[in-house]
Amino acid sequence: MDTLDMLIVNGTIVTDKESFPGTIGIKDGRIAAVCGPGVYPEALETVDVRGNYILPGAIDPHVHFQDPGFTEREDFKHGTMAAAAGGMTCVLSHPLDNPPTTTFENLKVKEDAYEGKAFVDYGIHIGATSDNLEVLGALWNETGATSVKMFMCFSVKEFPFVEDEAMLKALKIVAENNAVAIIHAENDGILSMMTKEMHEAGRKDGVAYNLSHPAEAEIEAIKRALYFLEITGATGVILHVSTAQGLELIHAAKEKGVKVYAESAPHLFQFTVDDMVEKGPYLKFSPVMHDKENQKKMWELIQKGYVDYIGSDHSPYTKEEKQVGEDDIWKAPNGIPGIETSLAVFLNGVNEGKLTLNQVAKMTSKNTARIYGLSPDKGTITPGTDADFTIVDMNLKKSIKSEELKSKCKWSPYEGVELKGWPVMTIVRGKVVYDHGKIAGEAGYGKYVQRKK
Ligand SMILES: [Zn+2]
Repeated sequence: MDTLDMLIVNGTIVTDKESFPGTIGIKDGRIAAVCGPGVYPEALETVDVRGNYILPGAIDPHVHFQDPGFTEREDFKHGTMAAAAGGMTCVLSHPLDNPPTTTFENLKVKEDAYEGKAFVDYGIHIGATSDNLEVLGALWNETGATSVKMFMCFSVKEFPFVEDEAMLKALKIVAENNAVAIIHAENDGILSMMTKEMHEAGRKDGVAYNLSHPAEAEIEAIKRALYFLEITGATGVILHVSTAQGLELIHAAKEKGVKVYAESAPHLFQFTVDDMVEKGPYLKFSPVMHDKENQKKMWELIQKGYVDYIGSDHSPYTKEEKQVGEDDIWKAPNGIPGIETSLAVFLNGVNEGKLTLNQVAKMTSKNTARIYGLSPDKGTITPGTDADFTIVDMNLKKSIKSEELKSKCKWSPYEGVELKGWPVMTIVRGKVVYDHGKIAGEAGYGKYVQRKK
């Protein structure tokens, strides 16, 4: 064997199925060999992971880096630094920036804004709205964007949501082009009815916001989305599923042959509606957290494999934008930072016996890569694939301090929350980009990944 570029030694390799001690050899950014422990081929550099676990590089396919357009909240450089610190080797960026990623022109603006800034690899989702259906097929086919986002309810006015007719048309185009629809599923009518009720009752508190997004809103929309996927034959992902019942419905549809996957988000497993009392606007996002009972069931379902993958839905706003919601929750925007703490929530779950490390590898890498066309280059620890790794220390206990976060956003709903199990090193295509608290990579190293059908 030629001299390798790097060896990773003294670690336990974790795949979606098994864990075993071993050595990994890297050459030209790819995995050259996976050997047993104590086997040390010649290499220019050796990284000793000191008994920690080596997971296939985690991928976060649900991020809003607010760039271009809202860079006072976050930007691509800081967002991908935060990704590296959170153990993420690749991110897929959602289309709700300014301008939104819904035309060729706007996509170019985004690509230019990203140029030379990434610390980790990245891809871009495009968006389907009620008014860009003519270009949707071409946009997906000609750009290597990975998937098509759509909202079933109001989000922001620059990104009009799809009502049934537009959604069905969009799903037909998705099916014809063998694309993936990524769907925010909430019933708009239920949301507006409940919001009006809360306003009429004079409520401005955090809990009132969550009550305006009841479980029924998500459940109805999931049922409709599943049926629409079934009759159009499109492949779809239901984003950030917040209800145990929603996960069960998706699982049942899948069993029936509907091509659908369930995403869920870390904050839904960390916080419940009760936390709205104290954290209000700093936990305002949608769909919302429900009660403890629902959360307990969701952990049980994650263990049963009902969640296909995890997306952080990292979506920072400035402290000032959120602060106004302390007195009036309706005035705060929707979205919270989360990419740096996402993996730790689930590693902490492993330490609490709620799931296995192999399941974490599956939900943060294997499945994500498969669903979004990043396989076979990413998603597994296999010779010939990208040398992307997330090294985790399962014994490290740490309380989150917002000022230490690499994101531009220096507040976090996780402030003071203690979690056990953290990513300590992130390796992207054979290069260490994050190392025990410090960014070790460079802006521009991360590259655009072309999705495969
Ligand atoms: Zn989102």
